[in-house]
Amino acid sequence: MTDIYLSPLTKDLKLMWDQGVEVFDGFANETFKMNAMLFCTINDFLTYGNISGYSVKGHKACPICEEDITSQQLKQGRKIIYLQHQRFLRSYHPYRRLKKTFNGHQETN
Ligand SMILES: [Zn+2]
Repeated sequence: MTDIYLSPLTKDLKLMWDQGVEVFDGFANETFKMNAMLFCTINDFLTYGNISGYSVKGHKACPICEEDITSQQLKQGRKIIYLQHQRFLRSYHPYRRLKKTFNGHQETN
């Protein structure tokens, strides 16, 4: 899928990674071949969906859990919430025992 907003950037990054571009170094007064890559981005979750093409809506929206996700749709508001992320905390983290704050169950996974 080609993103119309990111395709110019993607095209330039591919060129800089695959072939490199000639760049002038003013200090050394010479040109050199520069290769570059995009190392990481910092963005909100919706922008992450736009950049990556990953679905960030619906019941399987967590990019970490993917198929191993527990989601639930709230009766009021119909929002989808994602549960059991305390399983990524260390074994004896106090949040694992908080039943009322989360889904009413202690997290043992
Ligand atoms: Zn998740």
